Amino acid sequence: MSAPSFSEIVRSHSTRAAELMGVSSAVQTILAEPKRELIVHFPVRMDDGSFRLFKGYRVQHNNILGPYKGGIRFHETVSLDDVRALAAMMTWKCALMQLPFGGAKGGVTVDPSTLSRGELERVTRRFTHDLGDNIGPNHDIPAPDVGTNAQVMVWMMDTYMNTVSESQKQVQRAVVTGKSLAAGGSQGRDKATSQGMIHCLQRWADDHRVDLAGCSAIIQGFGQVGSHLAMLLVRLGVSIYAVADKSGAYKSAEGFNPHKLVAYVREHGVLAGYPRAEPISQEEFFSTPADFFFPAALQNAVGPAEAERLDVRLVVEGANGPITPEAERILLDKGVDIIPDLLANAGGVVVSYFEWLQNRRTERWTLAHVDARLERQMNEAYMRVSLHAADRGIDRRTAAYALAVAHLAEAYEERGVFP
Ligand code: NAD
Repeated sequence: MSAPSFSEIVRSHSTRAAELMGVSSAVQTILAEPKRELIVHFPVRMDDGSFRLFKGYRVQHNNILGPYKGGIRFHETVSLDDVRALAAMMTWKCALMQLPFGGAKGGVTVDPSTLSRGELERVTRRFTHDLGDNIGPNHDIPAPDVGTNAQVMVWMMDTYMNTVSESQKQVQRAVVTGKSLAAGGSQGRDKATSQGMIHCLQRWADDHRVDLAGCSAIIQGFGQVGSHLAMLLVRLGVSIYAVADKSGAYKSAEGFNPHKLVAYVREHGVLAGYPRAEPISQEEFFSTPADFFFPAALQNAVGPAEAERLDVRLVVEGANGPITPEAERILLDKGVDIIPDLLANAGGVVVSYFEWLQNRRTERWTLAHVDARLERQMNEAYMRVSLHAADRGIDRRTAAYALAVAHLAEAYEERGVFP
């Protein structure tokens, strides 16, 4: 029997949670499939004068709680199944965090590191144009994900704004979140996902009477999420002894200086070649003893072999779906705690919501205001998930899905199904 696909894994989590919460089969059936799936093929002129055809996706899973919301991924492995899984996860994440958003995800099958800046801009603008009316500030609001960043969001916003009449232009700024500050982004959005993970870590440390100063960590993925996380961890006195990205895995016996590492990756794109690191194998990376493991790369990065090797107390999931179900069983049996993706990496969408609100109200919030609101929302969600898990004697992932599914089911039961 072949391994389940990413979307089958996500569906199995939500089905188990729905059954646990006694959600009706009608609502389960509705939530099992995305509402809409769009596939586009679009040509882009490359720097050498040739044309290349690209494939892009936007999957809108559910919008009963509010406009669709979810990132745009530029990666060579992007497929319809991945985008489906990630779109559904956004529905559950927004419901768990009690945000007025539904779930969506999009992407283009391309390795952005092979494109020049001009080519990346043309891919982004042409993809946005092809999405057309399928996105909009009241309808579907993209954000950054793997391979995209604030610059890509600004190009998306600008392209979208140029398709509406002059009198409507300014109110369209909220069509994407994760923009640069100059283009109307929010203070704190760049580190929001990592900051949310830190709040979860701190609540876990409080619960387990662990002093974070003096603890150790390993991080997989050193992009937007992994790099901000490293800088925040070191501020708390947590040392980072091993890091990995698509170029390989590396260790530092005395612990990495994340600021130097971030500056290096900003210049070179990857960790490879960093002078104060020793290259290690993937096996050695996963076997490095540490208090915490932070996966911040791609889905299914931790299978049974990696789970057997991991020698940590806690995994905080920055990435979406980084642990396969088989690996999760191994980790839980070993007594490793897991703070699941729906909760752990929700800081990004929470501050995206703040950005959307600021754009709609033409307000500018201070970093202190954003950070305080984020901390409150993360702490409340952490408590809800932990209490539900303890009450029912279930793991935190099942508890997070259960709360999300129950919230959506309530909305469906009240509204009924049209006509
Ligand atoms: P990014 O593109 O900025 O960074 C991705 C990192 O993963 C890079 O360092 C890359 O080299 C590394 N990587 C890719 N393939 C790898 C492999 N096979 N092994 C090891 N490392 C590998 O992306 P990001 O925005 O940091 O997103 C990382 C994860 O966090 C994704 O799963 C994403 O869905 C999730 N996430 C991101 C946000 C956000 O705000 N950006 C919010 C919630 C969840």
